Amino acid sequence: MKARGVIFNIQRYCVHDGPGIRTVIFLKGCPLRCIWCSNPEGQNPFPEVLYYEDRCKRCFICVAICPKRAIEARDEGLVINRQRCDSCGKCVESCPNGALEMVGEVKNAEEVLEVAGRDVKFYRDSGGGITLSGGEPLYQPDFSMEIMRGAKRMGIDTAIETCGHAPWEEAVKPLLPYADLILYDLKHSDPEAHKRYTGESNELILKNLKLIDAYGRRMIISIPLVPTVNMSKGVIDGIVRLISDLKSVEGVVLRPYHAFGVPKYRLLGRNYQLGCVNPVEGEELLYYKELISDALNVPVKIA
Ligand code: SF4
Ligand code: SF4
Repeated sequence: MKARGVIFNIQRYCVHDGPGIRTVIFLKGCPLRCIWCSNPEGQNPFPEVLYYEDRCKRCFICVAICPKRAIEARDEGLVINRQRCDSCGKCVESCPNGALEMVGEVKNAEEVLEVAGRDVKFYRDSGGGITLSGGEPLYQPDFSMEIMRGAKRMGIDTAIETCGHAPWEEAVKPLLPYADLILYDLKHSDPEAHKRYTGESNELILKNLKLIDAYGRRMIISIPLVPTVNMSKGVIDGIVRLISDLKSVEGVVLRPYHAFGVPKYRLLGRNYQLGCVNPVEGEELLYYKELISDALNVPVKIA
């Protein structure tokens, strides 16, 4: 049977998610809940309704049409009961003002590969390919596997961007033969702080990191730089220590915190947990870049 999965975006002509020009496929579902996450629409593994309050004209057609009685009209606007909603999409189709939108759709691997296959010439000319991202691609291992295997059959280079929190035997190991490159996230060196800021300890992540290294798959380590979470010399030194002995790490990418994802929390009816912090830029960013490049003998980029 063909594996089907839920994706929330396919972005063509990307240049920050692996080498060359790439098509990035964003899969829904993630085991972590990082408090700074800029793609909250990628966290739950099912399609979700976004509510644009500023476009809503309070006609309440959606309230009447919802078979699950999941939409409640309140003075401050609509409230969607996310536990009751089964993502049927009837409210989205019925809204005359475009105030409701579904994020996430079910696709099979063939449909995804059809889009990815449109840019084969660009991949060949630039050394690019496809990157599976999310959310967390290893949250849907069969679907990810089918996309990667299909891409390899088409002669397309493959990369996977992962937080590493997935079972080795069932999800990580079977995918490695089809992944040319692993973009591996390391967010914090301390297990307890990792749990506090992401909802899970980093123990499984570090175990998988070592196993991938022993397997010999090329890796680039991706580090989000987030004020109040991991932006200190001590934490970054700790992350450097975790990777300094690995043989398969070819580089490090620093991803400075930004607040572009914050409005999406409101559309999903959720609270943003990090609070108000400024984007990371300028000299501060260069300081951390140099700290890492001085300690490791690999290129360090800022994305
Ligand atoms: S998607 Fe379906 S169940 Fe969910 S709020 Fe809309 S109409 Fe109701
Ligand atoms: S149908 Fe659209 S405009 Fe009307 S109440 Fe619902 S979300 Fe608002």
